[in-house]
Amino acid sequence: MQRMAIPAGTPLAGLFVVLALSGCGSGRAGSSTPEPASNPAGTTAAGARAMVVPAMESFDLAVANGTRQRSGAPGPRYWQQWADYRLEAELNPVSKRLTGKSAIRYHNRSPDTLATVYIHLLHNIFAPGSRHNTDIPWAVEGYELSKVAAQGTTLGASGGEAVGYKVDGTVMRLRLPKPLPPGGTADLELAYRIRIPPDGAPRGGQDGEVYYVSYWYPQMAVYDDVNGWQTDQYYGNAEFYMGYGNYDVALTVPAGWLVASTGTLTNAAEVLSSQTRARLDSAMGAAEVVHVVAADDRGAGKATATAAGGKLTWRFRAENVRDVAWGASANYLWDATNAAVGDADGDGSVDTTRVDVFWRPEMRASHWDQAARYGRHSVEFLSKYLWPYPYPHMTAVDGPTSCGGMEYPMMTCIGGQWDTLNMYEVVVHEIAHMWHPMQVGSDEKRFAWMDEGFAQFTQSQAMPDFFKGYDDEAENREPYLNLAVAGGEVELMHHGDRYPSYNAYGTASYYKTASVLVALRGVLGRETFERAFREYGRRWQYKHPTPYDFFNTVEDVAGRDLSWFWRTWFFETWKLDQAIDTVATAGDSLEVVVANRGRAPMPVHLVVTRVQGEPQTVEIPVSAWFAGEKRASVRIPREPAIKTIEIDPKREFPDIDRGNGIWPR
Ligand SMILES: [Zn+2]
Repeated sequence: MQRMAIPAGTPLAGLFVVLALSGCGSGRAGSSTPEPASNPAGTTAAGARAMVVPAMESFDLAVANGTRQRSGAPGPRYWQQWADYRLEAELNPVSKRLTGKSAIRYHNRSPDTLATVYIHLLHNIFAPGSRHNTDIPWAVEGYELSKVAAQGTTLGASGGEAVGYKVDGTVMRLRLPKPLPPGGTADLELAYRIRIPPDGAPRGGQDGEVYYVSYWYPQMAVYDDVNGWQTDQYYGNAEFYMGYGNYDVALTVPAGWLVASTGTLTNAAEVLSSQTRARLDSAMGAAEVVHVVAADDRGAGKATATAAGGKLTWRFRAENVRDVAWGASANYLWDATNAAVGDADGDGSVDTTRVDVFWRPEMRASHWDQAARYGRHSVEFLSKYLWPYPYPHMTAVDGPTSCGGMEYPMMTCIGGQWDTLNMYEVVVHEIAHMWHPMQVGSDEKRFAWMDEGFAQFTQSQAMPDFFKGYDDEAENREPYLNLAVAGGEVELMHHGDRYPSYNAYGTASYYKTASVLVALRGVLGRETFERAFREYGRRWQYKHPTPYDFFNTVEDVAGRDLSWFWRTWFFETWKLDQAIDTVATAGDSLEVVVANRGRAPMPVHLVVTRVQGEPQTVEIPVSAWFAGEKRASVRIPREPAIKTIEIDPKREFPDIDRGNGIWPR
């Protein structure tokens, strides 16, 4: 999601009330002051660590069980659940209702017998009286369920231990007729109706012209090796945690409407006109953007096929994805081009993906006519910076305003007004999410930094490649420093629904995390950092990493104890303020005393510039601060004469006061 422009200090409406009433989740990692860890090593098995990293008991248990490893790699006994979805849905633009049927084959790959499974009904955030911590201007209609069946048996609502289902807010608990053994599969069937919410609803909806249908079908909750069932409610602010599966989707809409969806369109000959198909084919080899459907091409018989009943069913198949979302409108134009992603399938040759854009001509002022070009650059840059984009297409959809910028596998919905810089920024940010969390499937609810912060950081790598000289890392650092100095900051290891304000949530999850990754790059050096960042992705692609898997992988690749770094920047709100305290003559040397005025321990990168010669970097290692010292000194030759001594002139570390880090002042 793109960080929303909300004035600083705007509270999350009703957050405390919601939590007091519902008492959701266990949130082991959510406490604001770390307790002494039961395993003082925190994230490694043995050896003295510079600092205690608060442990997560369930993670330690996973290591003991062999599903995770201290190295940060998945363990030899790692397992993950799987689901095959067959989804059918028909959209009626008059009633704005979607009527759907879902058949889910759930594969239990865990070592546990499951008597109960949990299903997310995220659309219930729109039910009357729903609890939420973001603006929900329309809370009038949740799911209308007309069928719930499991293992061939139709189920009724029930409580307690009886077979049946129980809906609690956005979560359905389903007691199976027959317990599901390890290695077994359970077939579930649901039939339902929902109303697509009007503009103003978070992350989707309809504005009368365009429909963005997201979080629309009953979806299996994640059952994982660390926490078991993760059944946190959807309150609107914190995002999602989704398992992987294959999807066959059939979407029925009026003929003449264009549909953009996660997955590959498998019946193009049935739904697209021959002209549309021919232009689409040409886009894969085109150097420029192809206007697959231009303004005069819209409608049934021109853009799409015709249909006797006035409706067409679009079929999509998506493999190994964590969700499916789609956009549809009679008004869309369709631009397409391609992006070279590198060797995605390992056959030694460069692979290409298609970049699609669906937009309305009246949105030209927001630079939608440039979006395909922006998408192409984003996919190509990020494929090089991270690893090759693996999906058959990347599609940007002009959606209702309240989409803001939101990510779904292969898809982004973007709403609102944008200038050139911001339009590129939102496109590259959402496309960065195709890596985190679409491929690296972290728990966005409990650890928003693992996808938002990583997307924010990677967008900052892409932006100066497109806008030469643009410093997006500075754009992240400033809002973090503002809140760090002004007060109200909350640590990163904090459940996304438990921040006191959107500003605290957004600053931690986006800006601080992005700045912390820049600092980590400064500590490790660019080459080691990038190797570690990619290795984490390689190890956890299509899997479910915890924060500890990231910490441990970085330490494993770097070969260093970074406990002090994780503790400082992820578990605390300690601030960094390194100052040049005194500079005094000592024989033919100068003694430079550096004071650590904040609580954050970091190495000191002193850059000495003399009247002649290249600037020279002197490092005070981070260990200088571990015993609680507040001052450390280095001696440097007096000659040739010194012009300036400056701490971290590259601004890799987020120091709250730059003014005291330079000599002479
Ligand atoms: Zn985002």
